[in-house]
Amino acid sequence: IITGLDTGQKDFDYSMVELAELAQANHMEVVTRIDQVIDRPNPATYFGKGKVEEIRDVADANHVSTIITNDELSPSQLRNLEEGTDCRILDRTALILEIFANRAQTKEAKLQVQIAELQYRLPRLQTSASERLDQQTGGGSGFTNRGAGETKLEMDRRTIQHHISHLRQELAAIDKSEQTKRKLRAKSAIPTAALVGYTNSGKSTIMNGLVRKYGAAEEKTVFEKNMLFATLDTSVRQLTLPDQKRFLLSDTVGFVSKLPTHLVESFKSTLAEAANADLLIQVIDYSDPHYKQMMATTAKTLKQIGIEDIPMINVFNKADKTEIEFPILEGDDQVVISAKQDASLDLLVDVIKKHLFKDYVTATLLIP
Ligand code: GDP
Repeated sequence: IITGLDTGQKDFDYSMVELAELAQANHMEVVTRIDQVIDRPNPATYFGKGKVEEIRDVADANHVSTIITNDELSPSQLRNLEEGTDCRILDRTALILEIFANRAQTKEAKLQVQIAELQYRLPRLQTSASERLDQQTGGGSGFTNRGAGETKLEMDRRTIQHHISHLRQELAAIDKSEQTKRKLRAKSAIPTAALVGYTNSGKSTIMNGLVRKYGAAEEKTVFEKNMLFATLDTSVRQLTLPDQKRFLLSDTVGFVSKLPTHLVESFKSTLAEAANADLLIQVIDYSDPHYKQMMATTAKTLKQIGIEDIPMINVFNKADKTEIEFPILEGDDQVVISAKQDASLDLLVDVIKKHLFKDYVTATLLIP
């Protein structure tokens, strides 16, 4: 069951649609959606009391195992909801973390996800039932005493903190070698373009299409699938155009609204690929009625990771699913295309060239 609180925020409905897609991306089947219109979340149970009972009954009747909430919950909300509904509770952050954990491929991405997961867990560690009882009865049985007054919970916290700093060191070592690679690329003076934008918008399809046309023969194609977060790791490919002009194209993590802060932090180094680019290519699913909100999300995420003044072209993709004519160029930095069509990719390459190679005079801008 996906659940959410409608507190009057304007993107509520859209964020619930997205939540269902996230659940599917995590291989879960959504049975139903339950909303509650409310001024602010209940500090103890997130939902109001009656709603918690309703959710429990619906879950019970449908043999539901998991309830997903649209917002990140406080540790006590999480515990109380779990007790009140008899189901596993997954908040939006935990759901995104699970997806990321399943998709991470490189050592770097795996470390980044692990760190984010531990940071999420840290404040949510639970006191065991017996310790809670001890606290209530003021001191307890004598069997749970831990010398210097350290509780099991404190020990768990310390263990996790140790683990986090250990992983951070490992990540720092990898980041260093990645930075060296990036510097080498910068030195080689091959200009770089980075695909950015909402997840599922068609970035991998564009990457694959261009690699197929202009990549080295042995290049593998990037994983492309109709699923959120198909792309988690950055991949960089070198493309050589028929006139021997070369550039690097990178494909990076897809964006999604309400991306947990821990994740944005953790993925900064992956996203840094975009920060080093000479040109950003924002891919937009033009057939999605929410495409404007998605563009806003992308802009916000880019700002969050400190990318603000790199030139950007907008690629309105999946035009084949709309009534709009394509491929077309609008101004000199917007194209309406379909990543699955050859003429579209040609037009896109032409616009990329114009931005990357200053002396390049466009030849095919007259394509209808
Ligand atoms: P990414 O997450 O941004 O890398 O998105 P993908 O490249 O994996 O594409 C997501 C889905 O949209 C896949 O099923 C693609 O086949 C599909 N797709 C991509 N571009 C187009 C397009 O121009 N037209 C149509 N109809 N589907 C597309």
